[in-house]
Amino acid sequence: MDKIRVGILGSTGSVGQRYVNMLRDHPWFEVAALSASRDSVGKTYKEAAKWFLDRDMPVECAEMKVIPADQKAFKAEKVELVFSALPSEVAKTAEAEMAEAGFTVVADTGAHRMDPDVPILIPEVNSEHLLALKEQRSRRKGIIVTLSNCTALGLAISLKPVQKGFGLRRVLVSTMQAVSGAGYFGVPSMAIVDNLIPYIKNEEEKVAQEILKILGEYKNGFKFAKIKVGASCQRVGVLDGHTEAVFLETEKPATPEEVKACMRAFEGEPQRLKLPSAPIPPIIVREEIDRPQPRLDRMAGSPERAKGMATVVGRVRSESALDNGIKYVMLSHNTIRGAAGNAILIAELLKAKGII
Ligand code: NAP
Repeated sequence: MDKIRVGILGSTGSVGQRYVNMLRDHPWFEVAALSASRDSVGKTYKEAAKWFLDRDMPVECAEMKVIPADQKAFKAEKVELVFSALPSEVAKTAEAEMAEAGFTVVADTGAHRMDPDVPILIPEVNSEHLLALKEQRSRRKGIIVTLSNCTALGLAISLKPVQKGFGLRRVLVSTMQAVSGAGYFGVPSMAIVDNLIPYIKNEEEKVAQEILKILGEYKNGFKFAKIKVGASCQRVGVLDGHTEAVFLETEKPATPEEVKACMRAFEGEPQRLKLPSAPIPPIIVREEIDRPQPRLDRMAGSPERAKGMATVVGRVRSESALDNGIKYVMLSHNTIRGAAGNAILIAELLKAKGII
């Protein structure tokens, strides 16, 4: 089988490097174009990227020339599928131009998440939102599919089985977010070592809004879920892995054992279709009193290709200060599951469904 030729926008950054790393030896996709800012264009990838992952840069990418974030340059490389890990301010125009030119764009960025015909897709949670693509195709040649903010993504995965089993009335979340979530140059080490920062610009609003779109329905347009969502977001001195303390009010009463059972039984289309990057199971529920922890649990997930793709939940218990209250701690790898890994899983779903 010929592999689908893939181009990466923002390939030298925190998320871009994850793509390059995760796409090595992919059974369906091959990296055909690596793009970054003007400062990097013309350099080889190994000159342009300050590589920080513990596995060496794939040899097939090291000598590739970095090209501009431009649809003509991508066409010249015969790219069929574009992953975007651009800064949001650049992404809006660049992603729209790619889609107008006929590319399928899977975007990590916030630029188009709230467009009325663009899904925020988490393949296990809301694959039926792909129906929105029919409407999108009526206005342009290509399509954009987005994934949520990395903080909302793991949270939505943990909420979906509870929503299905018991209904959700209220979700409150307090986050402890990794520094890699702000990009390689995002948070100075002098600001974060021995410290935490109790503010992340626009994050709380994004989490609340995106969760409602993701957990809502698509029927001739998106119908947002009717759940009260509140978030408090903190940056902590952890390299990778967002940890979140979650408090819920369910519609129907549920015991912690029932919540754990429905999370453990949860699976979605990626598992049923046996997509190469699908974690089995998608949610790992731990019983130890002191898990999940980012250093120990962020790379959870099997098979090998799905390492870092599982959502890890622990400390599931009742909360008597809420009506039908449940609380737990959730961990998700922000640049794998919360970014490149989820995007690759979306692309696998699009391929399995014949959309690309
Ligand atoms: P980053 O480390 O700052 O990387 C940014 C990338 O974009 C670099 O490759 C950079 O190239 C390129 N770039 C910058 N300006 C450009 C321009 N004008 N034209 C073309 N390319 C340009 O950022 P990141 O953390 O990877 O995040 C990328 C996107 O993913 C953001 O929208 C972010 O919100 C989203 N996201 C991040 C995470 C996370 O956990 N980090 C999770 C989910 C989503 P140079 O190397 O040449 O500067």
